[in-house]
Amino acid sequence: MRRLRRAKIVATLGPSSSEADVILRLFEAGADVFRINMSHTTHDRMRELVRLIRSVEKKSERPVGVLVDLQGPKLRVGSFEGDAVMLERGATFVLDADPAPGDASRVQLPHPEILAALEPGHTLLLDDGKVRLTVIETAPGRAATRVEVGGKLSNRKGISLPDTTVPFSALTAKDRSDLEAALDAGIDWVGLSFVQRPEDVAEAKKITRGRAAVMAKIEKPQAVTRLGEILDLVDALMVARGDLGVEMPLEKVPGVQKQITRTARRAGKPVVVATQMLESMISNPVPTRAEVSDVATAVFEGADAIMLSAESAAGKYPVESVAMMNRIAEEVESDPTYRSIVEAQRAEPEATGSDAIAAAARGIAETLVLSAIVCWTSSGSTALRVARERPKSPIIAISPNLSTGRKLSVVWGVHCVIAQDARDLDDVVDRACRMAVRDGFAKIGQRIIIVAGIPLRTPGATNMMRIAFVGDEAAESAPLFQAADDRRQKTGV
Ligand code: PEP
Repeated sequence: MRRLRRAKIVATLGPSSSEADVILRLFEAGADVFRINMSHTTHDRMRELVRLIRSVEKKSERPVGVLVDLQGPKLRVGSFEGDAVMLERGATFVLDADPAPGDASRVQLPHPEILAALEPGHTLLLDDGKVRLTVIETAPGRAATRVEVGGKLSNRKGISLPDTTVPFSALTAKDRSDLEAALDAGIDWVGLSFVQRPEDVAEAKKITRGRAAVMAKIEKPQAVTRLGEILDLVDALMVARGDLGVEMPLEKVPGVQKQITRTARRAGKPVVVATQMLESMISNPVPTRAEVSDVATAVFEGADAIMLSAESAAGKYPVESVAMMNRIAEEVESDPTYRSIVEAQRAEPEATGSDAIAAAARGIAETLVLSAIVCWTSSGSTALRVARERPKSPIIAISPNLSTGRKLSVVWGVHCVIAQDARDLDDVVDRACRMAVRDGFAKIGQRIIIVAGIPLRTPGATNMMRIAFVGDEAAESAPLFQAADDRRQKTGV
């Protein structure tokens, strides 16, 4: 089975999509990666969802990615006498360390680190930005603020700090326990929420130790400021527009989306555009024109993946939402303007053998109108560098590692196949041709280009390129996925 588009689809699972048959239908409609949001999922439920996704993967015979999204530090105010207060514009409102119930003049902020980090002029956004305060004066354990935008504030509402870098980690005790459970369940990607600094990524990487790839959710202005440093450490980025739109003026989000997608594309690391893409499909069978246009914009930007949240997790039309995204992406990618827009953001190759070969493979495939670029890859890095080129020809990544195939399922244009290790170069070429025919990328008599690192299984050592003629023998296909999966189970690789 092959997709007819390059942009990938991430579908969040939830109450509307927890059953095996719905997950299968989401996959068939176009979902390439499934996201499990740990803000709303128990460990048992997460394990069960991973089991269901793996059974869909087995049926589909192609690697499917699992992204576990950690909740991150959710900051909240304390409680009020009578459960809520009305804050009037222009009034003074104090945040302090006193656990006594609050009133219209003060409330507890049960995070001493924040009280210590606030400075006059900093903005505080409460209840998803509905109430806005500015710090006017600070003292140990206390910050006096002016109410800029008033409104009702009730018990334990969330608080966002767009100007304040809070000196604590992006991983709470709950995140650490969720992460260990997710790693034990064999997930592929972990989403880190509310990343502020590169150190947050380093801390997560210390725990994952290569057992899962790390995706930093960019949802705080502090992270946008340090995007380059974060990107140096992380495996992928997510444009988490929900919280980004709370922490910065909404009108700035589209520009930041462009900045993040371009920076990630330049680095050759996957980028996912997320949140409210088809929001109205939570309750309607068809999206608004503006939502269609929003999905299309992300596809035109060359984002690796577009994501559904509540639409597939809790909406009335989960499968229809995936099918809609699939149709939009297919249509955009066949639009006559698509190539020139995507190519305008292509970055020059870096001065490495891998990039030189990836760029040359694209050039040759386009000049000779070859049917596919086949990457023989153990770690996935060859396929990532070829995808960075955003070539016209389809990319097939053949890997002996199931975990590599699953991670690559989020990457632009990469069709992943799991196969047993090749014996030698002739075997690489032979299997690449058979694979291209089996999955409908090439016909007998056409040509493909193969990119690999020799000796095989040397991660990052891309050093070989070969144009291959697809002969009659390529019509005999082998059950490649099955073979590798059996080997994995035997060896535990
Ligand atoms: C977001 O804020 O856009 C996001 C993806 O994060 P979450 O859904 O976890 O709030």
